[in-house]
Amino acid sequence: MGSFFIPNVEPIWLVGGNKRGPIRKENIMNMRIRSRKLALLLVFSLLLGLELWGCATTGPMGVSGVTSGKAKNIILLIGDGMGPNHFGTTLLYSNRILGKDLKMVEVMNAGRTAYLLNDTADATVTESAAAAGQIATGQKMTARAISMAADGKTSLKTILELAKDKGLATGLVTTSGITDATPAAFAAHVSDRGDEVSVADQELKLGVDILMGGRKQFFLPEASAGVRKDGRNLLDEAKAKGYTVVGTAQELRAAPVGKILGLFTQGNMTYEIDRAKTQEPSLAEMTAKTLEVLSRNTKGFFAMIEGGRIDHAAHRNDVVGVIHDTLAFDAAVGVVLEFVRKNPQTLVIVTADHETGGMSVIGHSKTSKDYVGIDLAAIKEIKVSFEVISRELGKDPTPQKIKEVVKQYLAIEITDDEAKMIASDTIRKLDPANYNYATFHSLAFVLRPYLRVGWASQTHTASPLLAFGMGPGSERINGLLHNTQLFNIMKAAME
Ligand SMILES: [Zn+2]
Repeated sequence: MGSFFIPNVEPIWLVGGNKRGPIRKENIMNMRIRSRKLALLLVFSLLLGLELWGCATTGPMGVSGVTSGKAKNIILLIGDGMGPNHFGTTLLYSNRILGKDLKMVEVMNAGRTAYLLNDTADATVTESAAAAGQIATGQKMTARAISMAADGKTSLKTILELAKDKGLATGLVTTSGITDATPAAFAAHVSDRGDEVSVADQELKLGVDILMGGRKQFFLPEASAGVRKDGRNLLDEAKAKGYTVVGTAQELRAAPVGKILGLFTQGNMTYEIDRAKTQEPSLAEMTAKTLEVLSRNTKGFFAMIEGGRIDHAAHRNDVVGVIHDTLAFDAAVGVVLEFVRKNPQTLVIVTADHETGGMSVIGHSKTSKDYVGIDLAAIKEIKVSFEVISRELGKDPTPQKIKEVVKQYLAIEITDDEAKMIASDTIRKLDPANYNYATFHSLAFVLRPYLRVGWASQTHTASPLLAFGMGPGSERINGLLHNTQLFNIMKAAME
C-alpha cells in the first residue's frame, strides 16, 4: 500500500547529514525537494493510518480522502442466515412472481456494496452469537459467546453501548427472540448464548429504548408461564421503568411514543407466511414504530433490525419460508428507505450474519433437457411453512400420510418411492450432524427436481455475504470486508 512512493523518497535516516557526511551548500535544493516529498509521504501515511484505524472515510464517489462521514442515526439491518442465494432467490420471486424489485436492490444500487467475510476466532463457519458479536464489537469471538472476548470472561463494549454513552436513543428488533443471539450481542454479555434469562435482564438493565421480538418466556417467572427460576416478572419491572409493554400488533400501534417492550410470542415470532392468522406485527410495522420513537431523540439513534427467521426456515431447508421471511425483511428495508428520504443524515447498513443451509437454485426438473432453474410458479402455490407441514405430518408419518400432506400443502404429487424415502429419512442418516432436523432434509431432497432448490446442509456455511449501505459513512462499504470492520464503519460514522 502506497509503496509507489518509496523509490522517490529517501528513508528518513538518509535525509540530512549522518550517512552523507556534512551538509553541503549544493545539496540544499535537493534536500528541500526531498523534504517536500517526505512531508507528502508523512501526510499520506497519516491518512492511510487513520483509514486503517477506522477514523477516516472515503469521499462521495468512493474516492479516498477524509470527509465528515458523520451520521446522526445508524440503522443496521441483519438478515439472519441470508446468504447471497437467499437474496437472489427472493429477488427472482419478487421480480417474476410479484412483478417488483426488492427494496434491497435500491440500497445496493446506491453503489456501496461489499463482499463480507465472517470467520471467527475459533471457526471458519460461525453461529449467530459470534457473528453478531463481531459486528457489534469489531473483535473476533468464539462460538456461542455474546459480546465477550475470546477469553470468555471480558465484556467487549458494543456499538449500541457506545451509542448509549453518547446520549443516542437505541433499539433492537427481531422476528426471532429478543433474547436470541443477534439482538443479545448488541446489549448483553454472557459466555453462552443459551443464558437468555440473563440476556433479558441485561437488555432491560441497559435501558435499550425499543425491544421487540419473541421469547416472552425469558421475561416471566415459571408461575406465569415463563422459565425464570428467580421468580422475577420483567414485564412488571419494565413497566415500573417507564416501558410500555405490548403483546399484539394492535397494542403496538396504540403505544405512545416512548420506551417500548414488545413481546409478541412465548417463543420465536411466527414465520411470515403463517403470520396472517396471528395478532403479531410484521417486521415492517415494528420497524416503522421503532423509527418513529427513536427519531424523537434530537441527538440521533442506533437501531438493529433483524429478519431472524430467514435462518430458521433455511435450517429446515424450507425455501418458501426463506422467500417470505426475506420479503418481510425487505419490507422493513423499504420502511427504512422512506425514513432515510426524510432523514438523510442516516447511515444504513444491510447485511447478514452468515449463510444458512448452503441454499442454491439448481438446474433441472425431472424431464428437462436444458437448464430450467427454480419453479417459481410451484413455489407460489405453497401457502404454509415447513413448520405447519411438520405439524400436519406428526411424528413418524407413514408414506401414505406424507403423500397426502405434500399434495395438500405443496400441491405436488410425489411418488410412492419418494414418500418411502422421506418416511425413512434416509438422507439424514448419512450425515446426522449436518442434517439435524428430522424429515425436513429428506423432504427437501425429494422436492429438488420439483422446485429446483438444493441444500448443502441444515447448518450454517462459510459462504461470503453481501453488505450494502447508504448515507454518511457508507463510503467505506466496498470491496472485500470482514464483519468486524462493520463495527469500525459504524463507530467512525457515529464520531
Ligand atoms: Zn442459524
